[in-house]
Amino acid sequence: MNTEQPSLIERAKTFSEEVIRPQAAQFEEQGVSRDVIQQMAELGFLSSILPVEYGGSGVDALTYGRITEEIGKGCNSVRALLTVHTSLVGETIAKLGSDEQKKTFLPQMASGEKIACFALSEPEAGSDAASIQTSYQEVDDGYIIKGGKKWITYGAIADLFLVFAKEGEKTSAFILERSMPGVTTTPISGLMASRGAHLAEITFDNVRVPKSNMLGRAGMGFSFVANTALFYGRYSIAWAGVSIVCAALEEMVTYSRSRTQFGTKISQNQLIKAMIADSTAALHASRAICEKIAQLRADGDQSAVTETNIAKYITSKAAAEVSSHAVQVFGGNGIWNAYAVERLFREAKVLEIIEGSSQIQQLMIAGQALRDYYRAPLKKRYPKANSSTNKTVLSEVKDRQVASV
Ligand SMILES: Cc1cc2nc3c(=O)[nH]c(=O)nc-3n(C[C@H](O)[C@H](O)[C@H](O)COP(=O)(O)OP(=O)(O)OC[C@H]3O[C@@H](n4cnc5c(N)ncnc54)[C@H](O)[C@@H]3O)c2cc1C
Repeated sequence: MNTEQPSLIERAKTFSEEVIRPQAAQFEEQGVSRDVIQQMAELGFLSSILPVEYGGSGVDALTYGRITEEIGKGCNSVRALLTVHTSLVGETIAKLGSDEQKKTFLPQMASGEKIACFALSEPEAGSDAASIQTSYQEVDDGYIIKGGKKWITYGAIADLFLVFAKEGEKTSAFILERSMPGVTTTPISGLMASRGAHLAEITFDNVRVPKSNMLGRAGMGFSFVANTALFYGRYSIAWAGVSIVCAALEEMVTYSRSRTQFGTKISQNQLIKAMIADSTAALHASRAICEKIAQLRADGDQSAVTETNIAKYITSKAAAEVSSHAVQVFGGNGIWNAYAVERLFREAKVLEIIEGSSQIQQLMIAGQALRDYYRAPLKKRYPKANSSTNKTVLSEVKDRQVASV
């Protein structure tokens, strides 16, 4: 595949190295600055994958993934803006929005005039996202939304909120604006990671929303809108894993070649080399699966959904392992925030929790595998074996649908 647009990727790399990374520690204390967000918009990163007619650059999934990787290498909290604003909300509106919604919201999002966030999780509804309590009621001129959300990345400063709410058993999706009376956001502090990503709790106190702000059809909010958004979001998180693996590997290689113990560079030690080898293999495997999904998306191949769940699972796990190796290679310096690996280690953990934890990914991957890799009945292949256990397992997974953030 040779569809990359090097100029935008190169620009992202330069911006990440020269502007984002030097401020990453500061962003952890003060939040990602408005100035950097505006520059991200002006340089075309926020809108890169959005359609040209709505102010984007219409780049392919591979180019967008590579941009995400470069930004993520500089700072995970800045990368999180791409995930929520561009992937979870922007791509979803571009895919499922009405003409009016696309014309209204996408140009504002592309220019950075409005920042968007994705509001599904609640204090009592995380992995089991279908159990949300936020409710809506249809009235003459629109809907009234009541309830609250938690852990909403960029929620503290966002202008637009993609909100999921229920009417009875029916879940629908709505685009809310900060300016609507009844919307309140409260920043969340004390976080181990994502400290710069303006996380917030949000409350909706009888917020009146016009009919035209429902995204997708009534009742399709969970099965259709949320799952579409999470497909885009998990692709972004998969590349976020690549970015942490790559950054941690670069750090450990560089440090091991300069640190001397026992009269020799620690990079010459075979046990250090083992960690470098495993980390290099993890980087190549992580990047390969992300590139494969980009190709599947370009081909319109439906298997991209399952492969994206697998990629999110693999690269977030790799990020946790490789950043741990990096801390180990740095020894005492590894747990000191004077070095980037301390932050990479903390940020990697988050990737195993968000957008469907690793356990939820495992459930979905196993469910798919139990369908895809089922062969002839055991009875036929192993006449002496009892096949009743096998039948029970298959019927259990058959209709199971696990969708969550
Ligand atoms: C930094 C950060 C940013 C976030 N940003 C957003 C955002 O922008 N928008 C948004 O809507 N949400 C966001 N979230 C919320 C996130 O999606 C949830 O935290 C995540 O889905 C897990 O839900 P939970 O925290 O309620 O954990 P729980 O669902 O309570 O899970 C707790 C543990 O139990 C495990 N578990 C749960 N069910 C099962 C099961 N059936 N089998 C096996 N294990 C299980 C989980 O894997 C986990 O290890 C964010 C969270 C964080 C930490």
